Amino acid sequence: MKSFDVVVIGGGPGGYVAAIRCAQLGLSTACVESWLNDDNQPVLGGTCLNVGCIPSKALLDSSHHFSFIKHEAKEHGINVAGVAMDVHRMIERKKSIVQTLTQGIAGLFRKNKIEWLKGHGRFISENQIEVRPVGEDGGDAFPVTAKHIIIATGSVPMTIPPAQVDDNLIVDSTGALAFTDVPRRLGVIGAGVIGLELGSVWNRLGAEVVVLEALDDFLAPVDRQLANEAEKLLRKQGLDIRLGAKVTGTGCNNREVTITYEQDEAKQQIVVDKLIVAVGRKPNTQGLGAREVGIELDQRGFIEVDGLCCTTLPNVYAIGDVVRGPMLAHKASEEGVAVAERIAGKPGHINYDAIPWVIYTWPEIAWVGKTEHELKAEGVDYRVGSFPIAASGRARAMGEVDGRIKMISDAHTDRILGVHILGPNASELISEAVVAVEFDGSSEDIARTIHAHPTLAEALHEAALAVDKRSIHF
Ligand code: FAD
Ligand code: NAD
Repeated sequence: MKSFDVVVIGGGPGGYVAAIRCAQLGLSTACVESWLNDDNQPVLGGTCLNVGCIPSKALLDSSHHFSFIKHEAKEHGINVAGVAMDVHRMIERKKSIVQTLTQGIAGLFRKNKIEWLKGHGRFISENQIEVRPVGEDGGDAFPVTAKHIIIATGSVPMTIPPAQVDDNLIVDSTGALAFTDVPRRLGVIGAGVIGLELGSVWNRLGAEVVVLEALDDFLAPVDRQLANEAEKLLRKQGLDIRLGAKVTGTGCNNREVTITYEQDEAKQQIVVDKLIVAVGRKPNTQGLGAREVGIELDQRGFIEVDGLCCTTLPNVYAIGDVVRGPMLAHKASEEGVAVAERIAGKPGHINYDAIPWVIYTWPEIAWVGKTEHELKAEGVDYRVGSFPIAASGRARAMGEVDGRIKMISDAHTDRILGVHILGPNASELISEAVVAVEFDGSSEDIARTIHAHPTLAEALHEAALAVDKRSIHF
């Protein structure tokens, strides 16, 4: 029987990163991964690389370019005639990016001498995993033993009874990344991260998009002021966002979907050509056999872990989407690194207070730390500095004037408690704020830091100055 220091179950951004770090630290490591791509070939990378972060950003970038050429190029003096979208080419480009990156992970596994066990893993005891091979090579199930096991089995889309995914007219995020043409009318259930990102993609390409959100608040986790501004901007772009909309049923003929929902106690109906269900994701422990060997799950099905990602079994850890906390690739990877280092006897660091969030709409929305709303609820005394993107010279030059940056710091110590950005390239700008939070920095630290001119980062500098009411350009 094959035996390893560490077996990682799942090869997404949590699992593959954990495996690489374990191998770097001299531990003999295997990774069990069951994902098969559209060509029935085993691949690494999990949700993130195959049907998540990377393919969605590929489509967001393609559709952003299309929208720019159609609506904004003229403003720059660029006249382009006959602009047309080749959806097939866009999807092929996305596939090739995914293929390059997933093959890159396989290369990293070879480089680090990690054994990739292409199959489904199931606990048969607290240090034995049965691997059931997948793919064309197949073969019989076989057991492997490990001193330590890391569960990184990720998450899968949630479903709702009134809108069952049929992978034809009603799809989840995976289906929405592979439409073969632009639907004329597109429905989206859920105005969360996926609903807004994928709704934006198809809206930019010409679909009439209606987004049905059960809650009355738009983007409830986001700073209220920024969420309100974002809502106005997205509506202006053409997203028809209907809040407080409770979907009660769907009916399909072979061409279209009729969606019935309730809003303000009135029954409503819309007809669309495609419907995306994006109502959240749930932990994936299917067929894992975790409970059977004594690993506890919480009420929502997440694997129960402490602050160090230890499960209820001493040699078993769990990381990423399958445990509590934000379902984000970088959170999964950082937990993977921290657990690998702990197994190797090192401290293993992760700061849950410094995890950035990004929503890749345009403008982008990004934040780290707490919102004003949360701080008020906690009774914290704070100060806010706010700077409009429109007052940034670089943003003006780019023709990107929407949004603002808000910095919140402790009223007594000036320690940064939260930074919230709605603006162009917010996904990149947030990193400076994350570093400041990680270093327990103050708004004064950012205020005294020289920022290159002209850059968007100057707007973050100005927001820091604004905390002390000494912003220069606003
Ligand atoms: P996963 O990536 O889900 O990987 C788990 C892996 O485990 C899978 O490959 C699965 O096949 C394998 N597996 C499961 N059970 C077994 C088993 N028993 N045996 C063998 N293998 C098994 N996050 C971001 O941070 N930024 C983004 O921009 C972003 N965009 C997203 C866009 C979309 C459309 C979606 C759906 C998600 C997005 N996410 C994004 C979320 C991100 O993809 C997840 O947070 C991340 O993939 C979680 O990593 P993970 O390793 O925990 O799990
Ligand atoms: P989400 O939690 O972001 O949003 C789901 C939305 O659906 C919520 O607003 C919720 O109120 C709404 N909803 C739930 N049930 C509903 C119903 N019956 N009818 C109408 N609305 C309903 O979840 P998601 O968009 O599916 O994304 C899942 C997770 O994937 C995210 O939480 C995030 O962690 C991750 N993700 C991250 C990124 C990123 O980092 N940019 C991108 C995509 C996904």
